Amino acid sequence: MPNSANLDIGEQGGRQPGRAVAVAHGLALASAITLIVLTAGSDRWSVWPLTVIVVFTVIGDLTSVEAFSPKLKVSGSFLGIMLAAVLLGSGPAALVGVVSIAAGWLRWREAPHYLRNNLVTFVWFPVVGSVFFHATVQLADLGPVSVAYYLLVFAAFILAMVLNFLLVVGYQCYLDGSSLDERMHEALAPIMSGELFSALLTSVAVYVDVKVGTVGLAMFGLVLIVFQYLVGELLVSKRRSDELQRLATTDDLTGLANRAHFRARIAQRLEAEDPEAKPFAVLLIDLDRFKEINDTLGHHYGDALLARMGDRLADHVGASGLVARLGGDEFVVLSEVREPAVRTLETLATELVACVEQPFAIDEASLDIGASVGIARYPFDGDSANELLRRADVAMYAAKEAQTGFKLYAPQLDHHSVRRLGLMSDVRRAIAESELVVHYQPKVHLDDLRVAGTEALVRWQHPELGLLPPAAFIPVVEQTNLIGPLTRYVLERSIEQCSAWRQERSNLSVAVNLSVRNLLDRDLPRDIERMLSTHGLPADALRLEITESMIMSDPDRALANLSRLDALGIRLSVDDFGTGHSSLANLKRLPIHQLKIDRSFVSRMLEDQTDLIIVRSTINLAHDLGLTVVAEGVEDEQTLERLAEFGCDQAQGYYLSRPLPADGIADWLARSGAKILHAVA
Ligand code: C2E
Ligand code: CA
Ligand code: CA
Repeated sequence: MPNSANLDIGEQGGRQPGRAVAVAHGLALASAITLIVLTAGSDRWSVWPLTVIVVFTVIGDLTSVEAFSPKLKVSGSFLGIMLAAVLLGSGPAALVGVVSIAAGWLRWREAPHYLRNNLVTFVWFPVVGSVFFHATVQLADLGPVSVAYYLLVFAAFILAMVLNFLLVVGYQCYLDGSSLDERMHEALAPIMSGELFSALLTSVAVYVDVKVGTVGLAMFGLVLIVFQYLVGELLVSKRRSDELQRLATTDDLTGLANRAHFRARIAQRLEAEDPEAKPFAVLLIDLDRFKEINDTLGHHYGDALLARMGDRLADHVGASGLVARLGGDEFVVLSEVREPAVRTLETLATELVACVEQPFAIDEASLDIGASVGIARYPFDGDSANELLRRADVAMYAAKEAQTGFKLYAPQLDHHSVRRLGLMSDVRRAIAESELVVHYQPKVHLDDLRVAGTEALVRWQHPELGLLPPAAFIPVVEQTNLIGPLTRYVLERSIEQCSAWRQERSNLSVAVNLSVRNLLDRDLPRDIERMLSTHGLPADALRLEITESMIMSDPDRALANLSRLDALGIRLSVDDFGTGHSSLANLKRLPIHQLKIDRSFVSRMLEDQTDLIIVRSTINLAHDLGLTVVAEGVEDEQTLERLAEFGCDQAQGYYLSRPLPADGIADWLARSGAKILHAVA
């Protein structure tokens, strides 16, 4: 019987039972045995009924299921024990109780003190039930032909059951200090109807035994066990389908709600009686630099980071909203703030970003990550889950581009959103149909202002959106494998172009920017080698620009590929130097030839003394390490002069030239010498 009454609470409580408890258990057991001995005169030790009841009880116990909670163990033994109490007397009933606990122990292996308490319970309640039943039958002079006799079976069952609950639940309360009242409610309420049914079945079993004898009892027991098995199967399959349901709505890695669950929740909100009265907001959080961590440190770190991030966000949002993971490194918050005032939402978004930015300690590493948040409000920005998510996405992407941390959706953002157009398939097409164009920005030698080479900077000539800067699509493409084809496209174009320029000027070089994925792409060196030979460009005319953070996140893996490129004779530059946290000493391990000082230092160096010092000392240190130095972002003549004084090797910037299409560069090259000499003189 899945719904009968062996209740074991198998959870370790707060209090550790000491010797006093053991002594109390011993005394309780001894007094029960005394009672059994005293009432032994009325016991009936008939072998067959006892055997049938024991077999039925043990099988019932072994096939029982944990029905309601892992704490409640419900089995069929109660029915068997009470049958023994009624039909055979207190001694046989206590024996069945002990056998049942022993069989249960084989399955559940409860701690010794629980076993003791269960033994006391399963000796005491059969004895009390039996003594009560037989004494009353005798006093009232009832026989198995009267209805009252069977009602008394029912009553004895209930009495025994109450005692069972008091002893088991009371002990648990003693251990963990909880209130008996509460515990009884928690333990008893869910199985109350099952208990009453079992009591009824016990009365029926007694009737069957009286009418048909032991064979009838055996048949009855068999039917009950099959019944218990079927109910157990039902419960298990129900539990399985609940589990499937849970899996379908939760995200495995973080345990948060998944996309489907999140959308369902929005739909629920929208269907609410009076949706106007309940505005809400969707905040989409996309991690910055996550792919870099995943690609360079591996999935172990990526997964750990996402799981911890999920906990952190859920803690922060608490009961005031729902946090879900949409997939990848995208999380979303459904904010239940009643007043979705812009100010409130901005505060929340700022808090979410701050929450993400706290470093994560994973294994030995401390991981820093950023986030961009896009906000869409119901009903202002959309009235369906799809619409709200899409617009939050547009806003998030705008925040990422503007590097502002968060952005509220506004219709004009839509026009800038490249993502809106299904960016990935678009980029594929852009590569295939040559919509990607490469512009070039010259670099000049500072000592004599000769042109040293150009840097290739990609743009997207979008059919609807016009010319898009790299910031509008590179960060998104970098998160996918499409960065491979994109980089190869830029490389092929640049190598071909440089080769053409070198027909006129033999010393020109071209520099191409790499992404972190490119640096880990084993095939890239071989592909570059092939491009160089196809277009007849010497390897030392190609430079590859990589950033500090790309190398520093996984120096060993990066080093392997860099060494292969170096062996081909390709020159390597460290781009945006000064924005990461690495040191020149670390860079010494790498086969690099050039440093490019980030334009944020260069463009401010005349106004900001600290920047000036950084630029000057970087130049000196780089020279000591045998590297050449390029200053990026030179926007005026004075800066150019100061850099020349500091001994900087090359300069690049708007003052010299903006990035230009290839033919623009040809014109510039034709005019440049005179113009630049004039500028400096
Ligand atoms: P970057 O490598 O630092 O490229 C230099 C950026 O500085 C270019 O922006 C350039 O137009 C800008 N710039 C040059 N001189 C000046 C100046 O005097 N003042 C100011 N304020 N800016 C100046 P752009 O073309 O928008 O490129 C932005 C970034 O996009 C690049 O930064 C680079 O990281 C990335 N990028 C461009 N092309 C590619 C590519 O083919 N592959 C990859 N992976 N990244 C690329
Ligand atoms: Ca660059
Ligand atoms: Ca740069």
